[in-house]
Amino acid sequence: MSESQVGEPVQTWCPSGRARAAESIVLGVRSADTGRLAYLAEPVPAGEVLGEIPEGIEPTRILRFASHCSTSCPHRRGADCSLVERVIVAAPPSTTVTVPRCHLRPKCQWWHQKGVAACHQCPAVSTAFEADDALTSLVADPATTLAQLEQWIAESA
Ligand code: SF4
Repeated sequence: MSESQVGEPVQTWCPSGRARAAESIVLGVRSADTGRLAYLAEPVPAGEVLGEIPEGIEPTRILRFASHCSTSCPHRRGADCSLVERVIVAAPPSTTVTVPRCHLRPKCQWWHQKGVAACHQCPAVSTAFEADDALTSLVADPATTLAQLEQWIAESA
């Protein structure tokens, strides 16, 4: 959540959000080969596509959704999102100079908080992750501090 010029909170959106919130929209489609996200040119209401996903398949395995950044989210630290902080710390150094063409940017919490550093890592983020991947599990855990993450990475190098 960021602030408007008059100091009022602005509703920002989470780019790794919930599929079934009332406001949820589709951010993009995950590549079956690489898992990276192909961003939609325009937002599509999640309700228009959820019914097309075969039963038994978690929608976040094939799509990424955006929904409101919420004070009840376990990743919230005050006005900030701790998840994007961990995503950036855990990511390999980026050689990318471009950012995805993304319809969410004007209201994206990660963009407001971390700018292009978030956008460089965003395509590789998976809302649904493999629990046997230790680094991904640490990043996804709201209890993981940046110091713990940096220590784990240093010890794994
Ligand atoms: S590409 Fe950037 S602006 Fe778009 S959803 Fe990802 S972090 Fe937000």
